[in-house]
Amino acid sequence: MKGKPKTKLFEWQKKLKDKEVKCSRCGRNYYLTVDHIIPQNLLLQLNLVDEIYNWEENFEIVCGACNKFKGGMLDLANPKTLPLLEEAFKRAKLQIEEYNQISRKIENGKWVYFYEKRTRPKLK
Ligand SMILES: [Zn+2]
Repeated sequence: MKGKPKTKLFEWQKKLKDKEVKCSRCGRNYYLTVDHIIPQNLLLQLNLVDEIYNWEENFEIVCGACNKFKGGMLDLANPKTLPLLEEAFKRAKLQIEEYNQISRKIENGKWVYFYEKRTRPKLK
């Protein structure tokens, strides 16, 4: 990152040291991280690399435990998720085939995370 301008993500990471900052899910004020509401792996798939570092609307401060729990998935219980996903699709200017392919992955649960379901894993 030498010589490059500081990213918004970098600025947010600095905010984590602020004593007033809390996890937006559980309220913890330690071990804080910046989570991507639309996960990084999905942004990469959409070719939205700059968004990983500079799309502030997609950032949320959560503690390490909550972040790990969500993993690289979409949390549909978070009201911000679907509007951000629509925006991401718009920004990615997907061709119809790509759109269908990614939508199918989302529908099949590849990136979808349901808080309630994860707390009680299904036995196969
Ligand atoms: Zn938390």
